[in-house]
Amino acid sequence: MLFTITMRGHQAADLSFLLHKHPARVQVFGLKFGKVHVFYPEVSETRCTAAMLLEVDPVALVRRHGRGSGGTLGAYVNDRPYVASSFLSVAISQVFGTALAGHCKDLPDRVAEAIPFEVNIAVLPCRGGETVLRRLFEPLGYQVEVTPHALDDQFPQWGTSPYFTVTLKATCSLQALLSHLYVLVPVLDDDKHYYVGEDEVEKLLRRGERWLPTHPERDLITERYLKYQRSLVREALAQLQEDAVGTDATAERYAAAEEALEVPVRLNELRLEAVLEALKQCGARRVLDLGCGEGKLLIMLMKDAHFEKLVGVDVSAQALERAARRLHLDRYPKRRERVSLLHGALTYRDDRLHGFDAAVLVEVIEHLDAPRLRALERVVFAYTRPGCVIVTTPNREYNVRFESLPAGNFRHPDHRFEWERSEFRTWAEDVAAQFDYTVRFVPIGEADEALGPPTQMAVFEQLHD
Ligand code: SAH
Repeated sequence: MLFTITMRGHQAADLSFLLHKHPARVQVFGLKFGKVHVFYPEVSETRCTAAMLLEVDPVALVRRHGRGSGGTLGAYVNDRPYVASSFLSVAISQVFGTALAGHCKDLPDRVAEAIPFEVNIAVLPCRGGETVLRRLFEPLGYQVEVTPHALDDQFPQWGTSPYFTVTLKATCSLQALLSHLYVLVPVLDDDKHYYVGEDEVEKLLRRGERWLPTHPERDLITERYLKYQRSLVREALAQLQEDAVGTDATAERYAAAEEALEVPVRLNELRLEAVLEALKQCGARRVLDLGCGEGKLLIMLMKDAHFEKLVGVDVSAQALERAARRLHLDRYPKRRERVSLLHGALTYRDDRLHGFDAAVLVEVIEHLDAPRLRALERVVFAYTRPGCVIVTTPNREYNVRFESLPAGNFRHPDHRFEWERSEFRTWAEDVAAQFDYTVRFVPIGEADEALGPPTQMAVFEQLHD
């Protein structure tokens, strides 16, 4: 069974670092079910392909499991050596395990970067056919190309087989790509070569953490992955449902509602203009957009030659994929030297964020509950420590002016809080004092005399010793 991953674009040969496999060598790994060969049929500056060849040994498998004693030929003669199946998932986790976990010592910057990838799977068995294949991959942002295969070319009347040759294209992180394949290949095959028990629930939740909770085919994926074992499926779905609240798909819907609310006061534009102005005043040329979402601010800053380096960070892989598309990073590879996207959580220290003049948090802090906000403060102000930090957040006092917003509601259901002006001021002054920054406040949008402006902004500047 042959499976290839092609990385396209800027410094494509980095793929070998990301996979931790030398591009000039053919390597062989002995796994329980047979051998896995890894090699690179193509390495250039703009395209690099890593191939994984699985040599599944069905006879050894039968011997190991003591099966086949009943004399069934099917245990010896089957499709397993020729198709992508749960053996591929095992190979990915054992041979590309570091990349699957999202680590890369040599290129920590690129491991979470959204990059254009292309995957080829020589033969993928798809129960439910092409429709199910598309329903599983397309919502994750993949372009899917398939070649179906007849059951037997000699006997067209036998109809089609469940086997497809598949090409998948997407701009995402390598970790996301591997985690999608790890889960979805056995789901399409609708089979597993090993016993499915409690630890499969944990594996599914871990590998699907960033995308499964909001996947429209979440139930089908979970049922098939857990081999229809009712109690395991119930347990997994309950957890996934919990995780879905406040994440991507719902977040997207809510973000649209929040935007609609604020459109009449042109708040989005005014916010971005105010941030641009503040960045220029600070003299910042290298800017971090923390919680960049779909990249609205990055798109605006990118058009201004004043900014030398722009990096967007977000915890949502789907938001980053949309940002990469909107910034057209694959169409204009040179742009990637100036603008890049990183997958990451702002509540954990991250060395990739060092060396910037300014960090911007536009409408982000209100999405974090109190302990996580404390963690973000330490990461941004103590660890990353850029010269300037710009934070915007809604002014709750102004909410009564939004007629369609029921009294007492927040502008966005995922907001953990919305602060009055005095609350924001207290928070910002505490942070400034604690981490040795100065802070000034700038109103955004037309202010109501009594209620203040719709949005509030704090501009922190580092106090030099
Ligand atoms: N700044 C963008 C998006 C604001 S919505 C804009 O103004 O359009 C808040 C964003 O913060 C979302 O994209 C969400 O995924 C991200 N986010 C929330 N908590 C985060 C965390 N702990 N780490 C990284 N990103 C986070």
